[in-house]
Amino acid sequence: HDVTGILAVQGAFAEHAAMLDRLGAPWRLLRAAEDFDDSITRVILPGGESTTQAKLLHSTGLFDPIEAHIKAGKPVLGTCAGLILLAEHVETADGDTITDRHDGPYFATLPVHVRRNAYGRQLGSFHTTAEVKGIGTIPMTFIRAPFITSVDDGAEELARVNGHVVAARSGNQIGISFHPELDSDTRLHEAFLAL
Ligand code: GLN
Repeated sequence: HDVTGILAVQGAFAEHAAMLDRLGAPWRLLRAAEDFDDSITRVILPGGESTTQAKLLHSTGLFDPIEAHIKAGKPVLGTCAGLILLAEHVETADGDTITDRHDGPYFATLPVHVRRNAYGRQLGSFHTTAEVKGIGTIPMTFIRAPFITSVDDGAEELARVNGHVVAARSGNQIGISFHPELDSDTRLHEAFLAL
């Protein structure tokens, strides 16, 4: 049993499932607490709207099993809103610290500071290519993306675009600002499946 659980309460979960299909990797959508069982060995937290996802994580009962999974050191990939869910520290677009449980922090397991909607409205969405440490140069699609303003003790920077950190890792947690599931390059998902 080696099934990737894809959080599917809101956001771009179907695109992650399509990516895993291309790689022949089994997956299950996580919509309710009973979807999470011992066969789930890794978890993907997709892009979307982090505040909405957090509310639904609590109302579905999925928050606790996913938190336990991450705290047990098992692999988790957070993309965009998923990075926000993982971050120990969350900032507004203006750089103010957020400290209420509605706007974050949420799982607070990845030792980074993340700034929501960091590119503002004009530059909110763009496409580029850049190198990810250990993976190579890959396409990157950003949609109202956060970026990482500080990589803290225990975390490692994996990629940088225009001077801003857009990917970081700590143990088996990978958090990225962009949406690899929206491009055809499978290498980031392959690296995640190899954890
Ligand atoms: N702006 C969204 C948030 O703050 C993240 C955007 C995304 O996941 N594409 O949750």
